[in-house]
Amino acid sequence: MSYEYVGNMHIHTPYSDGTDYHALIAEAARQAGLDFIVVTDHNVLVKGVEGYYGSEEDRYVLLLTGEEIHDRTRLPQVNHLLVYGVDEELCHLADDPQVLIDTVNTKKGLTFIAHPYDQDVVWVSDDFTIAIPWVDWQVNNFTGLEIWNYMSSFKDAMPNVREGMQALFRPDEFVTGPPTEVFAKWDELLTAGQKVIGIGNSDAHGTYFHVGPFSHRVFAYDFLFNCINTHLLCKVPFSGNLDLDRQLIFATLKAGRAFIGYEIPGDTRGFRFLAQGSYGTAEMGDTLRVGSGVTMQIRTPARAHIKIIHEGKVVREDVNTDALTYTATERGAYRVEAWKEYAGKDRCWILSNPIYLIR
Ligand SMILES: [Zn+2]
Ligand SMILES: [Zn+2]
Repeated sequence: MSYEYVGNMHIHTPYSDGTDYHALIAEAARQAGLDFIVVTDHNVLVKGVEGYYGSEEDRYVLLLTGEEIHDRTRLPQVNHLLVYGVDEELCHLADDPQVLIDTVNTKKGLTFIAHPYDQDVVWVSDDFTIAIPWVDWQVNNFTGLEIWNYMSSFKDAMPNVREGMQALFRPDEFVTGPPTEVFAKWDELLTAGQKVIGIGNSDAHGTYFHVGPFSHRVFAYDFLFNCINTHLLCKVPFSGNLDLDRQLIFATLKAGRAFIGYEIPGDTRGFRFLAQGSYGTAEMGDTLRVGSGVTMQIRTPARAHIKIIHEGKVVREDVNTDALTYTATERGAYRVEAWKEYAGKDRCWILSNPIYLIR
């Protein structure tokens, strides 16, 4: 039994470069049907805003704060790190990402490498469109990767002025999935035996786009909260106690009991990935002994092209199905992708976290 909560964990306010403050963002999240959000301003851990926003009659959304940290003195900008679950300002450690990661670990927090393969949009002269990739790949012991960042993915959809202008008005037609480099890096780290949690986020700023005299707010917070989200499968329901629910959210995330859903091609609530063998059962994030074989079961909330991936290779796939099974006999991390057609193109729809099999 698990309790599925949908959230977005990469959001900006005017404390850094966003446009709306916490209460308005919480209302947008509540109206979009989210259960929780984590607001992550650049190099500032905003205090005094965490809590439940909404009303008894309607529903509540839980707002937490984290931080997106980078070294402000390093230009061009690189290495954005999302930090969650630490009640202390740590941006003074940004000049050494490994020291920052290690410090967060000692404080029992979580670190996610944000938009790792972010690209430049060369034809727009706007701060927002400059590439901010991760470059210091020698770091270790981080919690995971932001596999899919909506705003970063949107920039990928703007290779030239013509397509870019179309994409501003119909972003859903252009966004198809994370960059292939992200999948390759994730599979490389998993194959090397590292546990790497994947998350997906909006990176919402409420951005206005300026091209010449033209200004357009295509990325309102409520729109973005219906795009790429992270779904948590919690062992107990939210209690209504801020400290307990904060702990529950970050413990569930740290355990990898989560999947990434792109809600535009179809609601992703209800996706499940389970494994069962002679040594027990496993959910996403769990480790299980292979024994004589482990049966994996996948269920999607609608028909899709489902793939099971092991060490970067598809070991089983089927199209136009909402269930898939596979018997795994090799050790290593197994993860699932579901792709779905929307507006004439194949789109990434659901990305599981891995189940880890050991000898
Ligand atoms: Zn960033
Ligand atoms: Zn950001």
